[in-house]
Formats: sequence, C-alpha cells, structure tokens
Amino acid sequence: MVAVLTVTVNGCGAAPGPGAGPGGTLSEPSGSSASSASSLPAALTITVAGRRIIAAGVYDVADAIRVAGVVLPDGRLLSVVARRVLDAHARPAGIRVNGTAASLTTAVAAGDVITFVPGVDSVEATRIRQVPVSLDPAAAALYVSYAPGRSQVVQGVLSGEQVSSVLLSAPTVGRLRSPAWLSFTFDDGPDQLATPQVMALLAAHHTPAVFCLIGVNALAHPGLARAEASGGYRMCDHTQTHPLNLPELPLAQLQAQIRTRSLSVSQADGGVAPVYFRAPGGNWSVAVEAVARSLHLIPLSWTVDPRDWSKPGTEQIISSVLNQLRPNGIILMHDGGGNRTQTVAALTRLLPELAAAGWNAKYPS
Ligand SMILES: [Zn+2]
Repeated sequence: MVAVLTVTVNGCGAAPGPGAGPGGTLSEPSGSSASSASSLPAALTITVAGRRIIAAGVYDVADAIRVAGVVLPDGRLLSVVARRVLDAHARPAGIRVNGTAASLTTAVAAGDVITFVPGVDSVEATRIRQVPVSLDPAAAALYVSYAPGRSQVVQGVLSGEQVSSVLLSAPTVGRLRSPAWLSFTFDDGPDQLATPQVMALLAAHHTPAVFCLIGVNALAHPGLARAEASGGYRMCDHTQTHPLNLPELPLAQLQAQIRTRSLSVSQADGGVAPVYFRAPGGNWSVAVEAVARSLHLIPLSWTVDPRDWSKPGTEQIISSVLNQLRPNGIILMHDGGGNRTQTVAALTRLLPELAAAGWNAKYPS
C-alpha cells in the first residue's frame, strides 16, 4: 500500500512569514492504513499546497519540511535602530506533531499532522557607553592642545547602531597657536531675564559685543536697549517684528522693517543709531542688503551658529562654538526669543575659556 501524505503550508507551499500563525500541516487523507514510520514506503506521494509530488525518504519531521519546501517561521533577532536581521533563527519556531511538541528528528507516520508555532521576533539588547568626543580636526589644529569631551552613547550590543548620544562634557581647549580675533553677537532681545545676565558676563570679561535688537522688544524694554547702548555695546537693527520672509516683502514693507531712524530700535536706545543690520534667519536678498546699505547699516552675518535658540544643551552649545570657531569668526547667540538659561550657562564658560586660549574679542567689521 502507498501512503499519500498531503502537505499544506499556509495554502501556498511557501515559507510562512513570522507571525503568520501555525504553518504547515502534514496529514494523511482518511482511508489510509499506514500507521508508523517503519511502515512508510521508500516513495511517497505528497501534495504540497494542492500540487502532488513524488518524494522518497520521508522518515522524520526534517524530511517532511524539506520535501514540502517549508522555511520554518523562526523568530528573528533584529538590530535596535535599523531593524536589520542579525539572526534569522534566533527563536526557533515550535514544531507540533499531532498537537504534541516535537523536533526535526521526530519520526512521522502516515496520517500525522505537523504544525508550526512561529517564533517571536526580538530586538537586540543595548548598552550604555561613555566615549571621548574629539574636536573637529580643523578646530583642533588652532590649539597647542585640547582635552576631549565625553558623550554617553546608547548602542546596540551586536550591531553597534546608535540609539542616542548625549554630550556630557564639551572639549576644553588650551592655548591658541597664535592669537586670533572673534566677535560675539546676540540676537532677538532685549529680554528682561537674559539680556542683563549677558551684559553682566560681557562686562565682567571686558568683552565687546553686538546686540541685534528686534524693534518691538526694544519698545517693550527701552531701559535695556538704553543700557546696551550706554554700556558701549554696538547696536544692530534686527527688523521691527522679525519677519523670516523679509526678502519676499514688498519694498514698502521691507523699508518699514529696516528704516531704523523711524523705528523703535533707535528711539528706545536713546538715540544711538544701530551700526549693523542682520536679516532674521539670515534670509538675505539683494533688495534687503541694498535697503540696509542705503541706511548706512553694515550687513551682519555670522560664521558660528551653535543653534542655542533650540536649547540643545549647554555642553552642546559650547562644543558647537569650539568646533566652528575660526580666526575672525562671528558667533551668533541669542539673548531673546525664549528661555536662554543654556545660552547664559554656555557663555559663562566660554568667555573665560576663550580669553585664556588667546582669543581677543572685537566688533565685526
Ligand atoms: Zn533673530
């Protein structure tokens, strides 16, 4: 007698995917009398997903799986960020013969029903490491020496993929190889809280700086604007209301934003006219620059942007400044536009460190 085994794997005969539910069944149609592996003939008629094939040598579960062309739905081990497959067989699928736990070497008999319990996917473990943070090579080359900072990094144990990185301490610089100049500029003020703190720090370190005022803020805090002017700091017109789309404004509106003599910037600062003009967001156009120059304002850009307004952390602000700063650099920071605690904390460290390194502050030219 020839036993006929019908193998159906999720109705398609192909590898079932993870989570696809119990997969293949290896069963014998009713009417067969074969009952044990030892009685199986050398050649069997097997139907895989409705297609009958002749197979020889089916004695155990591994044979049946091979003949059926089934890929076991093992659980995969995935990397922590990219979800790359690190191990396709990390959690082997369960095998059942007639509902009872079995293995690849379990003997099969005609009439047996083989099912699979898909393995569950898992994600690799992570570890926390502290790693040194170097200065950018071009920045490092400016100094006789520097000490690296430190970051705390969370990464996948196997893949090394980085989940997160937090700068714990910025690098610290030693002496410059040769003295150099820099300029500090502070935008979007004046601000009741931050502006007095920034001015006090600058005064304590005898550091000149430029304040780029927003007209409406100067109107709101005329005393602070006057204090900046009388403190010897240079004033910069940063428009009346800080429109980021300045280049798109009609000429009349553009002139109304920049025409300082009629604006609160010059009214509030006690008559000290701004020397510079800075376009909000650095959004310049030929017309913007032309209007500024026609009012004898020097267009003021920047070369160092630590993005302090985004509150990236005090250490990150310091690190960005050190990495971006080159001789004659113009540093952009903010004494307005939100909570400037990080900016003030960064400035508290940067002013003495940069001075000790040999940086001299000047007004931008
Ligand atoms: Zn601004």
